Amino acid sequence: MALIVQKFGGTSVGTVERIEQVAEKIKRFREGGDDIVVVVSAMSGETNRLIELAKQIDDQPVPRELDVMVSTGEQVTIALLAMALIKRGVPAVSFTGNQVRILTDSAHNKARILQIDDHRLRTELKAGRVVVVAGFQGVDEHGNITTLGRGGSDTTGVALAAALKADECQIYTDVDGVYTTDPRVVPQARRLTKITFEEMLEMASLGSKVLQIRSVEFAGKYNVPLRVLHSFQEGPGTLITLDEEESMEQPIISGIAFNRDEAKLTIRGVPDTPGVAFKILGPISAANIEVDMIVQNVAHDNTTDFTFTVHRNDYLNAQQVLERTAREIGAREVSGDTKIAKVSIVGVGMRSHAGVASRMFEALAKESINIQMISTSEIKVSVVIEEKYLELAVRALHTAFELDAPARQGE
Ligand code: ADP
Ligand code: ASP
Ligand code: MG
Repeated sequence: MALIVQKFGGTSVGTVERIEQVAEKIKRFREGGDDIVVVVSAMSGETNRLIELAKQIDDQPVPRELDVMVSTGEQVTIALLAMALIKRGVPAVSFTGNQVRILTDSAHNKARILQIDDHRLRTELKAGRVVVVAGFQGVDEHGNITTLGRGGSDTTGVALAAALKADECQIYTDVDGVYTTDPRVVPQARRLTKITFEEMLEMASLGSKVLQIRSVEFAGKYNVPLRVLHSFQEGPGTLITLDEEESMEQPIISGIAFNRDEAKLTIRGVPDTPGVAFKILGPISAANIEVDMIVQNVAHDNTTDFTFTVHRNDYLNAQQVLERTAREIGAREVSGDTKIAKVSIVGVGMRSHAGVASRMFEALAKESINIQMISTSEIKVSVVIEEKYLELAVRALHTAFELDAPARQGE
């Protein structure tokens, strides 16, 4: 008999009918003899609705109160799913994060899980009940409700699986696995049977929202067998695994990730003296703004240009800080652009293949897409381009790296 943690995302519990369908599915699993802990998200759209409601009172709601508010979305779905199970004769009980005791730090709206008390869960499982746990939420040491950041139910699922040493953590969603890229953007995207934790972590952090980054970090750290599956279609899904198979057919690129969440800032005509980067980025970091990509041009006329990207939400704030710095250090001007996108190719196969970046640049050049910034690591290459070319770039790269699914007959 196995212990499985199953997480169902927002669309999978988006209506009462779907919740009934999920209950049917869990019933079938129970009949197979497995112990099941279920984690659910709020009904799709509900978290957004709650945030909008809060913003009608205050544009920047107090983080603690926002958590009290948004955590209610998941409290509704756990109760509905438990009712649907009990109605079918499947003994079940629902728990909020606080009731389990999913202990987090106090960083409201982006809390980290510190510890999970598995005592109550084990007692209920032993009594033969399915335990339905609210995703996305926890409680801090002072008893305040916290939430784990958008998409955080994935992390609840994996963290529970780690705490319970479950045999598998299954993430049920509205796609049947992890694809070479977002199938909503590239219809020819292919489902991957396997992807390594390392690659999945890059994909998630570079913009693929199919799994929250922290859930992948957790799964890698505690070696939780993790699988992404479709809620209502049968199939093997995608296994996220530790091993990097050294097969001849291993693709160079496993996937393409992208995001539209960044903005670019440039400071021009900066006197080129030692410590320039620190003078520019020190105040940015002091303002609690995270910087992603950075480019400093080769100096001429004893001045240099310096460009970096930040999250779009931080753009206005970063611009103000940079204007101040420019005045202090005697730079010529500050400019910025929010209409950019970052496209990244990811794959452990890159380690053993030269020329991957140039193949990427060639594919973009063929489409006359200008590259504004570049950054690389051992297993990824990212470029910043104009936002309007994003979909074209992703499709071109998908084809250039031979990731397109073979056309079906008749197409
Ligand atoms: P849930 O509500 O179940 O958590 P999400 O919307 O968070 O679902 O994640 C699933 C979505 O992730 C898919 O509908 C798909 O559009 C998107 N997605 C982005 N990149 C990928 C990818 N590489 N593979 C699969 N899905 C992806
Ligand atoms: N309901 C939360 C959100 O929309 C958490 C989740 O769905 O994973 O972000
Ligand atoms: Mg999600």
